Amino acid sequence: MPKITEEVYYIPGQDEFMPDSHVYVVGNPSSQNLSLMDAGFVGKGSYKIQSIQKAGIEISAIKRIIMTHTHLDHIGCLAEISKQIPWAELWVHHLEADLLEQGDERAVYGMDMFRGLCQSQFGLKPGAFKFQVNQKLQGGETLDLGGTVWEVIHIPGHSMGSIGLYHRTMKILIPGDVVYADYAIGRFDLYGAKASQLKESLMRLGELEVDILLPGHNRIVKGLPKGYILKTARQWESYLT
Ligand SMILES: [Zn+2]
Ligand SMILES: [Zn+2]
Repeated sequence: MPKITEEVYYIPGQDEFMPDSHVYVVGNPSSQNLSLMDAGFVGKGSYKIQSIQKAGIEISAIKRIIMTHTHLDHIGCLAEISKQIPWAELWVHHLEADLLEQGDERAVYGMDMFRGLCQSQFGLKPGAFKFQVNQKLQGGETLDLGGTVWEVIHIPGHSMGSIGLYHRTMKILIPGDVVYADYAIGRFDLYGAKASQLKESLMRLGELEVDILLPGHNRIVKGLPKGYILKTARQWESYLT
């Protein structure tokens, strides 16, 4: 489990037939108050818990799982992880939290065709993604996570309840699937997605000073070029109307 800073660790996703999101472990391990950002795809929970243990961190220190959003590649193994750390709270933006609590899985699967495919391929039953959410985020909160301070930014467009976490002094951004390395952005054709909102979200992130970009998939970037997110937004602008 590579260390990004003293307070942020990185568990790379293990993509196979389907993408598996990265998980970031946020908080100073000495605080005994750690948060996982996202869980990952179906069946991809055990190795993540093992990576944390191999790094010498007691899993009792994990107090919560915060979802950047609830697509299947991020929430697929939430139940598997929760079984190992049943005390951990679940924090989700309220727009997707309400769906999870109702067992409405449209945001999880994104499209009907994908739902059918995944349910038959991975033996998922209807209602597999019904969860109680302990904290419903709005965006605009400041969170103290194990001795580190993060701003919650609501950045819809890829999904309706996508959030980013931003550490202003360390200039670290965890944007979920909204923006990636190499001028890539999240898709905007799934349930609850909206191109024009994605553009606004990218513009908003573009105002932040970001040195370390920790996206949900693909490469992480340290020493992000100045203006990178705005430049990415401009490149995609004509598709995001
Ligand atoms: Zn996504
Ligand atoms: Zn994803």
